[in-house]
Amino acid sequence: MAGNWAVSSYSGEFSFETKQNLRELYLNRCSVCEQKRVSPYGHPEVEAAHIHPAQHGGPNRETNGLLLCRRCHWGFDSGWLGLEDDHTIIVADEDAAHGYEYFQQFGGKPLLSPTLDDLQPEPRFIQVHRRLFGFESLVSGDVLTIGGLRDSQTRLVDGRRLIIEGGEEDALVVNCRVSSVGTQTVRCEHQTTLEKRPETVAEPADPRVDTQTDPSLEGLEKSARTIKSDYSGVEQKWEWGRLFRTTRAQHGLSRAEIAAKLPIDGTSKNQIQRAERVYDMFPNRDFEGPVLSFSAIAELQRAFPQPEDARAVYDCIAATGVELSVWETRAWVELLLDDVSVTRETVQQSLEEHPSLSPYDHTRGRKLDTHIQHILTVHAASHSTVTR
Ligand SMILES: [Zn+2]
Repeated sequence: MAGNWAVSSYSGEFSFETKQNLRELYLNRCSVCEQKRVSPYGHPEVEAAHIHPAQHGGPNRETNGLLLCRRCHWGFDSGWLGLEDDHTIIVADEDAAHGYEYFQQFGGKPLLSPTLDDLQPEPRFIQVHRRLFGFESLVSGDVLTIGGLRDSQTRLVDGRRLIIEGGEEDALVVNCRVSSVGTQTVRCEHQTTLEKRPETVAEPADPRVDTQTDPSLEGLEKSARTIKSDYSGVEQKWEWGRLFRTTRAQHGLSRAEIAAKLPIDGTSKNQIQRAERVYDMFPNRDFEGPVLSFSAIAELQRAFPQPEDARAVYDCIAATGVELSVWETRAWVELLLDDVSVTRETVQQSLEEHPSLSPYDHTRGRKLDTHIQHILTVHAASHSTVTR
């Protein structure tokens, strides 16, 4: 059955922060062999690995990442290792003797789980990896999101050449539909250009420093505790974000150093980063009521690493006044990034891929239909304001 693999248009390297997050999520262990090797200099020998490869348009986010030792990374990227949707490890050619019998011991075992449940590897990325490496067959009608194109073609990792017909010269990331699958080549028809090749790369904006407050290092813990008791939710994160960003800028400290100074729940290095991103998204503290929870905003930030982009999407949702859950936000972001025509069916399919939402959201007592209607409402209202 044909699948649709359209994903985020972001391709390339994991950011330094995402790599650090992956190290923390898997506690510096290889997610396949669970080894924790350290160099003679004390550096953990683990690498951040894409599941849906970056050169095929896989996004640079934690849920498309694994933390692997060098040997398992090579095994995963060369197609010896794959994953089932439930994170069971599968091994290629189990009967064949290629000198790589080493990997067979991991077949059928579960992948190491990350420390945060909502950053588990997503099945849709795992499915792409299985198809690209021959664990499952490509079939006509599959829609691939492919990035890193040169000369209108790229090479599939299992050795077949991918030919995209009807593409544009300056396309960086495209959606294309598989039209025929041969032993040497896979032909695709270009469908949509998701991202054009940039002419220049913009420098990231300098972190804003709030000059209204001047927190001393001595007062840092007290200020952080006051904020924790006076505020909650997004407000709390924003206040913390301003405090930490300002303190870091004025005293030249890293997030890890700030975290080490604060014996307060919720101020780990990662949580400090999330708080600072809320501050970056709302420089004028102009967020509205409970449109999105902090968790839902964090979801936007994962999909849109630039604060301005995340803010633009937030504004679209806020403009409708519709309150969205984390899962609704995630589904909505997918629709936005997919650049496919949105129908009730595609939304339903997208939601059904997230089992925690289906068929009822017990915590809020709403039926799936209600979720879908909310997302369609939001999408309709925002369609003209967010462009790629
Ligand atoms: Zn390993």
